[in-house]
Amino acid sequence: MIDCHFHTDLSKDGRAALADYARLARRHRYLAIIPTEHLDLDPEDNSYGFYDSDKHLAAVARARALAPETFVGLGVEFTYQKSREGEIADWCERLPFDLAVGSVHHLDDIGVTISAERKARRYFEKKSAEEAYGRYFEILLQTAASGLFDVLGHPDICKRYGVLFYGPFEARRWETELRDVFRACADTGTGIELNVAGWRQAPGEPYPGYQTLVMARQEGIRLVTIGSDAHDLSRFGPELIKRGLELLKEAGFDRVYYWRERKPVPLSIDGLLRR
Ligand SMILES: [Zn+2]
Ligand SMILES: [Zn+2]
Repeated sequence: MIDCHFHTDLSKDGRAALADYARLARRHRYLAIIPTEHLDLDPEDNSYGFYDSDKHLAAVARARALAPETFVGLGVEFTYQKSREGEIADWCERLPFDLAVGSVHHLDDIGVTISAERKARRYFEKKSAEEAYGRYFEILLQTAASGLFDVLGHPDICKRYGVLFYGPFEARRWETELRDVFRACADTGTGIELNVAGWRQAPGEPYPGYQTLVMARQEGIRLVTIGSDAHDLSRFGPELIKRGLELLKEAGFDRVYYWRERKPVPLSIDGLLRR
């Protein structure tokens, strides 16, 4: 298995040490794990200023020694905001990241957070699905078009709390927006992730779901990765990753990728499922 999206205690909302994840990964014979710590650049953000690159580098070095058969990468999850593109590029220049994930957590530059429950509820209460999801996909398109990232994080995370207000997420309704995003990804060489956390959350399906994965493939996306988005050890493990790999196969993908020194490394999905 691989896991290219999870958080350790070096993210403000993470609750386990990377060493403990590494021991689990070793036990389950993971080929690659990449902790993608939050790097939030908006002073309004809860985890602003929390990221510590020295600690991160040291933890990754220690984890590599603990799980010598597993590739342990240095990963980061940026909260994308158009106004912060320059800062994001600077961080990527300064540090030897293996993987940079770009995620939309804010709906605009005034700090409407859609991935934190209370703030999301306050926002969705006042907005129609067209406004809220429409704005989300607009910013997601900017994220893809920026070309700053290896991977677009959880490409339809707007549904995480959105389903509580607008009902089940219907990918067909957002097909134009989604296809625009995937075309921008294909143009800029940005991959997408299948984030399996959604199976345990309100939508009951991963980010993104099956239909959206099919659209991504039709628009030329080949670089696809998979992650648990675990924030503690109980969410980290091969069961949902395996289910996700099977879903990717169904959607027509035969490879998944992890990133090493910002370059994609392909792995056969069948090979991973047989391990
Ligand atoms: Zn995220
Ligand atoms: Zn995350």
